[in-house]
Amino acid sequence: MQIGLSSQDISQAEIDAVVGVLKSSHLSLGPKLPEFESILARYVGRKYGVAVNSGTSALHLAMIALGIGPGDEVITTPFSFIATTNIVLMVGATPVFVDIDEDTYNIDVSQIEAKITPKTRALLPVEVFGNPKGLDKVCDLAKKHDLLCIEDSCEALGSVVNSRKAGTLGDVSFFAFYPNKQMTTGEGGMVVTDDENLAAMCKSLRNQGRDEGAGWLAHARLGYNFRLSDINCAIGVEQVKRMDSFIEKRRNVAKMYQEALGDDSRLILPYEPEGCLVSWFVYVVRLQDSYTQEHRDKVLESLRAQGIGCSNYFSPIHLQPFIAEKLGTRVGQFPVTEKVAQRTIAIPFHNNITREQVDVVSNALSKSLDSLGEPGLS
Ligand SMILES: *Cc1c(COP(=O)(O)O)cnc(C)c1O
Repeated sequence: MQIGLSSQDISQAEIDAVVGVLKSSHLSLGPKLPEFESILARYVGRKYGVAVNSGTSALHLAMIALGIGPGDEVITTPFSFIATTNIVLMVGATPVFVDIDEDTYNIDVSQIEAKITPKTRALLPVEVFGNPKGLDKVCDLAKKHDLLCIEDSCEALGSVVNSRKAGTLGDVSFFAFYPNKQMTTGEGGMVVTDDENLAAMCKSLRNQGRDEGAGWLAHARLGYNFRLSDINCAIGVEQVKRMDSFIEKRRNVAKMYQEALGDDSRLILPYEPEGCLVSWFVYVVRLQDSYTQEHRDKVLESLRAQGIGCSNYFSPIHLQPFIAEKLGTRVGQFPVTEKVAQRTIAIPFHNNITREQVDVVSNALSKSLDSLGEPGLS
């Protein structure tokens, strides 16, 4: 039995919508683009959405539209997908890392103020694995210090913290729609904001610097081609309509894993914190501190040998060789990130996992832990 780590959930509605676009006269810059932008923005509770070809592109446009560049520092987390830090570097700014909270895996808000300097322009926090806890406090802190807050909500579409939705906390926020996310457009992303000028700037930047309504060969500024085709947007429109059911299905899978693995004291399981609604992105279990990275890697190997998709989520950004070389970061600098990263195991998680699959994965996981023996006694 093969059980994949993630899977998209495509219904006949998405297929029909794509066929509809293919039969129309607009494969790009057609009516599905504004339709997707407005339905997603409305779902999140934002005034404006700007659809682009990836979550990474969305961050790139937001940073440029906000004028962040050389000489600026951006405070972010070393426990994220690499794109968060890469784009800070791409625009010529300097990423400044703050370690994570051991409980939420999100940037530790209590350590941020110590890293603020006169060069700091923005905070760039992430709702890691969809958990929004503490992100409201991070964005409030940005406001207090007159800094921009750029919220990387790529893993948290639909999450809520203290009645505030992920994607509404930053001055600008952004989402991604790669097939492993809660909803997909194949490839895609979106900038969301309440700032009309910022949205207009992002629209121009994604489309070769053209201003809205200006001619095809009239370029007001240096721009990119980060457009998202109407084929992708059509998938997105149908997926947004199904988002509430996706969240419900994922919540149910998380509950099944909790029931199957909750009594295993060797594991630290993810959970929904007080005051939060988690739109589950992945299901990442963590081995207790008494285990080592070698133990974890053996478990990954054993699960894979049994056809069970799994991954170490994430690898610390500050220890990626090109980052370490560029920024002079090193082992030991962000101990919580390193401790967590050495012990995480993402197990199969998507809308349509069955109880039988949950049981197969959970039993395989328990058996691989059994075969490690008592940690610390090897
Ligand atoms: C998925 C993701 C992105 C962007 O992903 P793309 O592959 O560029 O769409 C950015 N940040 C985080 C935290 C992500 O999980």
